[in-house]
Amino acid sequence: MNDTILKVSGLSMHFGGIQALKQLDLEVKRGEIVALIGPNGAGKTTFFNCVTGIYNPTEGDVILHTLQGTTSRLNGLKPNKVTEKGMARTFQNIRLFQNMTVLENVMIGRHCRTHSFILGAILRTPSNRKEEQEIVERSYEILELVGLADEVDNFARNLSYGAQRRLEIARALATDPSLLLLDEPAAGMNPQETQELVQLILRIRDQGYSILLIEHDMKLVMTLSNRIYVMDYGKKIAQGTPEEIQSNPVVIKAYLGED
Ligand code: ATP
Repeated sequence: MNDTILKVSGLSMHFGGIQALKQLDLEVKRGEIVALIGPNGAGKTTFFNCVTGIYNPTEGDVILHTLQGTTSRLNGLKPNKVTEKGMARTFQNIRLFQNMTVLENVMIGRHCRTHSFILGAILRTPSNRKEEQEIVERSYEILELVGLADEVDNFARNLSYGAQRRLEIARALATDPSLLLLDEPAAGMNPQETQELVQLILRIRDQGYSILLIEHDMKLVMTLSNRIYVMDYGKKIAQGTPEEIQSNPVVIKAYLGED
């Protein structure tokens, strides 16, 4: 059994004269929570965009080994194909369908797993009733997991900020990913919402998912992560356990020493 879920080797990305990623190597193993940290502009979101097909990296390889035993090279694939291959993500800014219900938002994620995504048509598309039933049941299970089971019929726009962020995670989980990427999941959350998020991420990990997250909240990062990668100016400057990272002088100088 392959213990590695994601293996990224030599990933580079140029935007004209700017080199946003420089020969980055990163690995996520089965059942791990791994964090990617670094100062603003270090290249963290560019990294997520390169591994999820939003950008086509200039160089490097992104290999995903799924829980089902398949191996795929993801670089060069479109985002919907990356999702189908087994990797899902959330974004820094909330991207929900605000005028749809909580359940519909998750069902869309589930539909994306198996069908081409055509906005607007998807929920009206008559499909096999057994398949539709499976989609509804799995969506309810996921909403239970993220603590939104009581909100199924509510519109996304009526949820609190923290609940909207949890709904985004639910929608990503609905695609049955082997690896879940979270881009600043705690951004804008109050301390209680952040605490609930920590518990949620641990519950998701305990369900067998592996998680790679970008986050600026160092308390959250140090509490949750098995391992941490630190970036600065597009390069990896350190990697290690939370204890190793917190005492690494290079990291303290580049990032953790900031006020
Ligand atoms: P933050 O923590 O503020 O979100 P980050 O670590 O995610 O920052 P990126 O957003 O990946 O950093 O940006 C890395 C560098 O790449 C920056 O210099 C940014 O200006 C540049 N960059 C990112 N996307 C593009 C783009 N589409 N075109 C040109 N430059 C870009």
